[in-house]
Amino acid sequence: MNYEGFCTRDALVNWLDDLAGQVSLVIPVNDSGFLLYRQVVSVADIAWLVGESGPSTEQMYPHRPVLAVKEMFFPSTEPLVKIKKKAQQVLLEETLPDKPQVVFGVTPCDARGVRIMDNIFIEDLPADAYYTRRRENVTMVGLACQEMGESCFCTSLGGALDDPSDMDIMLTEFEEGFLIQVVTEKGRSLLGKQKFYSDTSTLNLDQVTNRATHAAISPLIPIPDIEAMPRLFNHEIWDRLAESCLSCRICSYVCPTCRCFDLRDEMLPSENGYECYQRIRCWDSCSRDAYRRIAGGHTPRATEAERLRNRIFCKFNYSPRQYGLEGTVACTGCGRCIDACPVNIDITEILGCLAEVVNE
Ligand code: SF4
Ligand code: SF4
Repeated sequence: MNYEGFCTRDALVNWLDDLAGQVSLVIPVNDSGFLLYRQVVSVADIAWLVGESGPSTEQMYPHRPVLAVKEMFFPSTEPLVKIKKKAQQVLLEETLPDKPQVVFGVTPCDARGVRIMDNIFIEDLPADAYYTRRRENVTMVGLACQEMGESCFCTSLGGALDDPSDMDIMLTEFEEGFLIQVVTEKGRSLLGKQKFYSDTSTLNLDQVTNRATHAAISPLIPIPDIEAMPRLFNHEIWDRLAESCLSCRICSYVCPTCRCFDLRDEMLPSENGYECYQRIRCWDSCSRDAYRRIAGGHTPRATEAERLRNRIFCKFNYSPRQYGLEGTVACTGCGRCIDACPVNIDITEILGCLAEVVNE
């Protein structure tokens, strides 16, 4: 590993405090009992930095927030354009976001999710202007996980607890503080603003106990081969797997790579004699029963089984093929859908069943 330097916990806190005064700083915070990425004005707002004997990250492990970092680039509800109308005159006002933002404490699985979203929203042309603008404005500072959560299975999908590859800067905690890796030029320019760290020449890196590399790794779960997936399409197993699904859509909303959306127009209060409207986009989900319903009322995926099958195929077959995900699938193994599902549908059990069927 190539480390740029290391910093103490106090130095990190001071750096973050300074950043909060300069840019929009987003950090996982405890929001009404839920760990969520939220903007803070001071590091005092950061739940996990409050330790009895000074700054500590102990309270935040496993520290995966309830919602994925995708909401910074692809918010749950986003105004796209404002429309003003008076007689025959129609004015359009774009609402492209342009605020620089630093997101701190991103988990490696979430950063991987962002890479997958980049493939879909930016690299698959035409690029989505709203997502692209937000993405350009954000610098991601990652924090290596120190242990795998009960539902995490990132390592089964090629991830690692300290994988820096999709970050701008990566921090890994050790006894004395944090080791710092600079991954992109964007990361370098953020660090360059203030020298709050020392170089690693005074550290014996072989002796440093980096908790991420010593963490216990959960047993790997079987993942069905992308080439074998089409054989599963008409299998009766989907009825059994989806038996209890409520079509509530929570699994999609918490997922770092689900990106279906709906467009809606809504009326706003009038302004200076103009009627005002705005077009918004909001998260949607293929788990919803009316999703894909067409004029005349026909729904091509009418049953829970067809919808669950679509969700799994989207992640493990359709998206990798359509968007050139370079050997990865559109699931990061974050386990959020497992934790959130009200009827305990577990994607690792689904994948295990599918792998068994494939090997029959
Ligand atoms: S499908 Fe589930 S485990 Fe996979 S990325 Fe989405 S929320 Fe995480
Ligand atoms: S969270 Fe569970 S019940 Fe709800 S749509 Fe997803 S799989 Fe079905």
